[in-house]
Amino acid sequence: MTEILRTADQVRERVCALRSRGQKLALVPTMGYLHEGHLSLMREGKRRAQVCAASLFVNPRQFGPNEDLGRYPRDEAGDLEKCRRAGVDFLWAPEAAEVYPKGFQTSVKVAELEKGLCGASRPHHFEGVATVVAKLFNVFRPDVALFGQKDYQQLKIIERLNRDLDFGIEIVGMPIVRESDGLAMSSRNAYLTSEERARALGLSRAIRAAEHMRENGELRAARLLDAARAELEAVQARIDYLALVDPETLEPLETAEGPARILVAAFVGRTRLIDNSLVG
Ligand code: AMP
Repeated sequence: MTEILRTADQVRERVCALRSRGQKLALVPTMGYLHEGHLSLMREGKRRAQVCAASLFVNPRQFGPNEDLGRYPRDEAGDLEKCRRAGVDFLWAPEAAEVYPKGFQTSVKVAELEKGLCGASRPHHFEGVATVVAKLFNVFRPDVALFGQKDYQQLKIIERLNRDLDFGIEIVGMPIVRESDGLAMSSRNAYLTSEERARALGLSRAIRAAEHMRENGELRAARLLDAARAELEAVQARIDYLALVDPETLEPLETAEGPARILVAAFVGRTRLIDNSLVG
């Protein structure tokens, strides 16, 4: 039975009780509308600790003024049932006023890593993410926290803030879970019409095209990105960014001789989608 908690005090009490039993705690932060990607993190959490908790909070501070906060998909009852099946022991689903009470004014900013890629087109997004994750880490004090590589820049930012602020949590980055045709699972896929759903495949195809070229010996970033761009153009996706970067610093690379990650963000209709992969 997954227990649903509303206040931070209830979470602290629950955590205190499991600590007194000497149990380890894993945490999976989410914005809900759960799919297999989220559930893979929860199952892994349960493998790594006796107790697995999740949070379900559509964090207003990580949405820009013209973004989709108001229409972000929600299904708390369905999410609770999925958590139960994934073995989640308790779920924190707070109101915004519980997380950001009147007078709240502190924020966490991971200065360099948040500058490019998604951070360039979504100002304040990662400050909102880092702030809420720092709060979640403080409320839950987990031993392990699991995040998806789907949000690769977010994962790197959280690893950095964990080190910089001495949380001492083991951060686990989990592989991207995809639909059978390759589309990376995302709560935002629910926005796509069936015609857009077909075009959205351009993102995973773009990444695969670059991977394939790299496997065949092409090292030049410009060539790899050209191959990816062609797939995005073929489905009339509007590219926000397409980049080959160092997997740790997220700095753009000229060649894929060493480890390199290709990252893409593109609009299909009004829906902004992201995907990424290790190349080479
Ligand atoms: P979200 O609810 O979109 O904030 O995502 C919550 C967590 O699930 C984040 O760590 C995401 O990176 C992760 N996640 C979302 N989609 C996927 C996916 N397709 N595969 C793996 N992890 C995912």
